[in-house]
Amino acid sequence: GDRSPASSDPVDTHCPYCSLQCGMALRPVPPDGGPGDGPEGRPEGRPGGVEVVERTAFPVNRGALCGKGRTAPAVLSSRVRLTEPLVRRPDTGQLEPATWEEALDRIAEGLESTGRAYGRDAVGVFGGGGLTNEKAYALGKFARVVLGTSQIDYNGRFCMSSAAAAHQRAFGLDRGLPFPLADVARTGCVVLVGSNLAETMPPALRYLTELKEAGGQLIVVDPRRTRTAEQADLHLAPRPGTDLALALGLLHLVVAEGRVDEDFVERRTSGWPEARAAAMAHWPELVERITGVPVPELRKAVTMFCDAESSMVLTARGPEQQSKGTDTVGAWINLCLATGRAGRPLSGYGCLTGQGNGQGGREHGQKADQLPGYRKLDDPAARAHVAAVWGVEPDDLPGPGRSAYELLDALGQDIRALLLMGSNPLVSAPRAAHVESRLRSLDFLAVADVVLSETAALADVVLPVAQWAEETGTMTNLEGRVLLRRAALTPPPGVRTDLWVLSGLAARLGWEKGFPADAEEVFEELRRASAGGPADYSGITYRRIAEEDGVFWPCPERVERDDAEGAASANPADSVSPADSASPADSVSPGNSMTAGAHPHPGTPRLFLDRFATDDGRARFAPVSHRPAAEEPDAEYPVLLTTGRVLAQYQSGAQTRRVGELNEAAPGPYVQLHPLLAERLGVDEGAPIAVVSRRGRALAPARISRDIRPDTVFMPFHWAGPGRANTVTNPALDPVSRMPEFKVCAVRLEPAAD
Ligand code: SF4
Repeated sequence: GDRSPASSDPVDTHCPYCSLQCGMALRPVPPDGGPGDGPEGRPEGRPGGVEVVERTAFPVNRGALCGKGRTAPAVLSSRVRLTEPLVRRPDTGQLEPATWEEALDRIAEGLESTGRAYGRDAVGVFGGGGLTNEKAYALGKFARVVLGTSQIDYNGRFCMSSAAAAHQRAFGLDRGLPFPLADVARTGCVVLVGSNLAETMPPALRYLTELKEAGGQLIVVDPRRTRTAEQADLHLAPRPGTDLALALGLLHLVVAEGRVDEDFVERRTSGWPEARAAAMAHWPELVERITGVPVPELRKAVTMFCDAESSMVLTARGPEQQSKGTDTVGAWINLCLATGRAGRPLSGYGCLTGQGNGQGGREHGQKADQLPGYRKLDDPAARAHVAAVWGVEPDDLPGPGRSAYELLDALGQDIRALLLMGSNPLVSAPRAAHVESRLRSLDFLAVADVVLSETAALADVVLPVAQWAEETGTMTNLEGRVLLRRAALTPPPGVRTDLWVLSGLAARLGWEKGFPADAEEVFEELRRASAGGPADYSGITYRRIAEEDGVFWPCPERVERDDAEGAASANPADSVSPADSASPADSVSPGNSMTAGAHPHPGTPRLFLDRFATDDGRARFAPVSHRPAAEEPDAEYPVLLTTGRVLAQYQSGAQTRRVGELNEAAPGPYVQLHPLLAERLGVDEGAPIAVVSRRGRALAPARISRDIRPDTVFMPFHWAGPGRANTVTNPALDPVSRMPEFKVCAVRLEPAAD
């Protein structure tokens, strides 16, 4: 084959997995006889033509990688990766090899005939938070322009959408971290809510270590004593689903103890009286009853948070993946605002996004309600701007569509055909057995992936697409830093890029132009489409990203001299608020030469230092109150289930389960439960146990541990089959973000036969 390194020198790039987007370099290595066999016919991790080399210059991880990143090249050479298109044959009912020509023809025909027969909205598109910005952009454009459907959403909805909604509501802008991660090491106190970053993104742990070495303090909020909680100066372990009450209790004490920053509240916020009243209704003893966190611990947390000169709250999936996720994050933001810990150097609220491009993936149009540049699909000015870039009429663009779970729930009913890229909802969606039956009921399903994932195995057509190290494209990490992944290898023969696929499909559906397969060409158009929007990328180029190790958005193409000086000035006060810096959409056009007084914009590492991105520049308190989870324990289902991640697996495991070393470290699911609960059930360590909810049952061995509350069990969700945790989880949705309630549902436990 012609699978050759794209270059003989190490190539700087980034990990294929989580939102930290660790920098690494890939060095070509000569082939040595093909991949070895691992468990289930999977490879043992022999690099497929490249090996990972440290890239210490990249500031976020300074060379450090976790096991997932270190072993990522194994998937490139995996014997089970897809290297030819597959089409389901009507006579055998089996997926069998086909030419690209036939596979793309089948998809174009499947999508078009469905649209013709049932209407355009009968065709759905489902994307992923691991897709590059260029792919997310092209997929959104393909859905809305070529297919004319409103039915597009992506698995990022299951990731951080509650934090995104709360960010928008409070600050007028959603960027996961409004400051570089390095600031975390320099603040006085960090409250980490529902994040187990020691397992999900281990290189980030060093920022917490540096924080403590510098005299700062760490509070971890988690129902489990995780590896991250072990690092904490104070660990609060609330009952799952009560993080909102916990935040309100802390705010109540802030008021009661006279810790409110009245000057900040007066000058930079709105809505305090209502938020204050809501918090005052949650007195500490009540909050102790709801959360199980003793009042003295609440008081201690308030003292640590308020005594520090600067402090931060960082949330992750724990508080976000709830049917009240937006309000829960809002309550933590309220705490920051009341204490003047937002919009100031080394203070603020941030979300630790999960997926590799969880940030960029939500900015460029694969989300049901958004257009590129983080514009709103129902905003007439946004529609006009993007339609002009796309060469269509604004009225031709469909309106907002269903959110991810609602879209999956409509399959086989209102939505009859689906194109899916970069996602494995059969494992990662809530109420997964139901989602599986919905996927099976489709008239037509096409999936592009690197391996035959559980979802791809149900498809009518499967397209083998290139992996991270085989193609170029940009990713936006959890800090809002736009990064460049570079190709270090050519894809195997028979494999094509997602952009090439969209280009080929668009051509078959009448769009010969407008869908280039070249990533940089797509990015150039993305720059124009995002210009003037909240997530303005118009000043970012591939060359700048390479030279500057990433550029923080918003980055308009140019900035007047005074603004440039202000923006580039001084660490840490180098904020340019989007409202100040964004040029009018039509005056920003990449390729224009700079005017005499204008300079390249430096990018925006820190947001909100001068003003928030709301119309009046003030942050908005949210008047939120505690409410129970959608499903609380009862006599039939008396225990709480919460789900999460383990160190050696990533998301639905489609890639990491195919790496021998990772599989050995984390071979399958388990049920973590407290010894008291185990004793009551008569269950021994390692014995099979069924976790049963109203939606189904998941079977896995018991792991008995004092690191979890006695009223709660935990399951990691990375696996399919009988141990699939998401068979059990509850799809109850947050009314604002449409986030399902992955983190809390009621179950009963049954000892199971071996
Ligand atoms: Fe990759 Fe995340 Fe691990 Fe870094 S922390 S190596 S980005 S999985």
